Amino acid sequence: MAKQNLDWANIGFAYRKTDMRYVAAYRNGAWEEGTLTADDQITMTECAGVLQYAQTCFEGLKAYETANGDVVCFRPDLNAERMIASCRRLMIPEIPKEMFLTAIREVVRANLDWVPPYGSGASLYIRPYVFGKSAVIGVKPAEEYEFRVFVTPVGPYFKGDARPISLKVSDYDRAAPHGLGNIKAGANYAAALFMIENAHEEGYAENLYLDPATHTLIEETGGSNVFFVDKDRTIIIPHSKTDSILPSITRRSIVQVARDVLRLQVTEREVALSEIASFAEMGACGTAAVISPVGMVHDHGKEIVFPNGMEQSGPVVKELYDTLTGMQLGTVEAPEGWIFPVAEA
Ligand SMILES: *Cc1c(COP(=O)(O)O)cnc(C)c1O
Repeated sequence: MAKQNLDWANIGFAYRKTDMRYVAAYRNGAWEEGTLTADDQITMTECAGVLQYAQTCFEGLKAYETANGDVVCFRPDLNAERMIASCRRLMIPEIPKEMFLTAIREVVRANLDWVPPYGSGASLYIRPYVFGKSAVIGVKPAEEYEFRVFVTPVGPYFKGDARPISLKVSDYDRAAPHGLGNIKAGANYAAALFMIENAHEEGYAENLYLDPATHTLIEETGGSNVFFVDKDRTIIIPHSKTDSILPSITRRSIVQVARDVLRLQVTEREVALSEIASFAEMGACGTAAVISPVGMVHDHGKEIVFPNGMEQSGPVVKELYDTLTGMQLGTVEAPEGWIFPVAEA
């Protein structure tokens, strides 16, 4: 076995077909045993539940090569649990946690050549997803499903590494109150494509969405949670009473790292757009970019610029980033159970 010959530091965030993927079928009321396959193509009826009524959800996590050459994942048990929650909401049969974790381990082990080397800044992105595969024309859940996991090597999500990003306050809503905002449904992303393209055209990395009911409270971006740091180094996490913020595993890890490792105060509460100019720092967090410092928020012609500006990260955001990525790469000790071993050096 030999590593793929890629320019790892510059691969960007794009799909590359790798060697093997995991497939399991749900038929006759039960999940069948999954297998690895080299075949990346899917054939299904034109009337499949996923094609007609978007009955699908997904997860996203990464495998890392650590400083000593092991390959590990970060808290995949939480991805398994979140996928179960997504399945329940979308009337998809739940993926058993053990099956999910086995699939992750097997797919990564079958694609070790594609795991970017330690120190490259790149990692192996893992995409589990499940979809309704049998025909439905009346609106109801499909009877057959497929659970799949593929991997693809990726560089840092936002161009320009840990440089600050700018966000645009959107007039559109990402997720309705009590809707699908708290699950990882593909439909949420379909709904946001229009706004993402618009933000990119105007030069912003992402949209910052407000609560749909009043458009005064901060929720999150299209693909990451956000958090703030006040002048006393307290971490402030936006809370939504209507459960429309996706429960980010990175954000939940930041809360614990801030409290237990960096000994910072953490508050979860509603955060008004009108108060964010008073904060010292802002970060966007999710698996893809881990933590991106936010330099500026554009709000209808008004620019809210954080003290760190667009050239460098704020100090607390940087401490959190260094600690969390250190845990993922094996240079900082992680809390018990956070690191999931996949392959040894
Ligand atoms: C996936 C996702 C996140 C980030 O969650 P992580 O578990 O940290 O990767 C945040 N917001 C939305 C809308 C997402 O889909």
